[in-house]
Amino acid sequence: MTITTEKLRQYAESVGLDLFGVANIERFKDAPPRMHPAAIMPEAKSVIVVGKRILRGGWRGIEEGTYWPSYTYFDYSGLLNSFFIPFGSYHLACYLEDHGWEATPYYPGVPERQMNRKPLRQGSVPHNVHLAIRIAGVAAGVGEIGWSKVFLTKEFGPRQRLHAVITDAPLEPTPLVKPGTICNRCMECVRGCPGAIPHLREGKTVKIQIEGENYEWADVDMGKCTLMYHGGDPRTSPFLHKDFPGWKFDVTEQEVSEGAAYKFSWTLSGAKWAPSEEFPSGYVVEGHAMLMKWGMGEQESSSFGVEGSRGCMRSCFNYLEKTGRIKSRFHNGEFIKRPRWLLPSKTQPLTKEQVEAYRAADEGRTDDEQ
Ligand code: SF4
Repeated sequence: MTITTEKLRQYAESVGLDLFGVANIERFKDAPPRMHPAAIMPEAKSVIVVGKRILRGGWRGIEEGTYWPSYTYFDYSGLLNSFFIPFGSYHLACYLEDHGWEATPYYPGVPERQMNRKPLRQGSVPHNVHLAIRIAGVAAGVGEIGWSKVFLTKEFGPRQRLHAVITDAPLEPTPLVKPGTICNRCMECVRGCPGAIPHLREGKTVKIQIEGENYEWADVDMGKCTLMYHGGDPRTSPFLHKDFPGWKFDVTEQEVSEGAAYKFSWTLSGAKWAPSEEFPSGYVVEGHAMLMKWGMGEQESSSFGVEGSRGCMRSCFNYLEKTGRIKSRFHNGEFIKRPRWLLPSKTQPLTKEQVEAYRAADEGRTDDEQ
């Protein structure tokens, strides 16, 4: 039986995938060698990009400032990225193999956490090849990249995650989504973000071209974004307020790389310290450590979301739904229903009485307890 793009699309739907598109290998002609699908499979003819929605309700508790685990556990690095989508992409690869084509399911890891290494063979690229999954999504006609650098689709706006399957099957490519089809540069993401996305008027952009179409988006400050998102920003983390009373850390003044921001916020969030009367959990930031565990334990590939994409996701889909620019609709109307919260950069210090009470309690503990 001949395999076609349409048959694959139907199969992808049958295994629970919400999004599907195909890029021919020619659409990657400008990709750097270490981000090129042919560096993984030299005979590759097509890259299939698939995805599943992030549940709108996964963010509800964060939007209300009341409940964090759902987003990390189901919708971020937890089950969505590590199980729900790979289940579909793996079966799609099996389907291709059943028809005699080689297929490599691609897990969209985090390239910035990979070491630079030497090529294993002369003339080859080093063995840390990573597709830029959002650019692959554009090349496969699944959507476009919005001003916020987040991938947007006509179905869900910014609410999805993507995986890919690289294959030597020659497939009909899906038409590209033209730039500006979804994102009209409304700047709602900039207004909602606590300070990582530059405004259009700053002129800081990144550009790529695919088949003559020019895609351009904001050059996001990834150091600030990572601090805000991964628990390094008191404005977006009530957990820092609980575990660092009297601390001031203004993320808008930091000028750090993404790598430095990860180092700071991840070690802070996952670290342990001696339990005390004031901090009985034994974690430096108990709430972040719990989120890390819910985000697939302590594996290297795990992650966790504290800030929950206030601007680039929540403000964006709120706007796109409200203005009818995407298909998703909800009986309950707009997502953002109440005034939004953002905490101060300085956390509330302990009172004198609290300091004395904690000191007295710790002095009263036996050596064994300490
Ligand atoms: S909020 Fe969404 S649609 Fe508006 S500029 Fe940002 S990415 Fe584009």
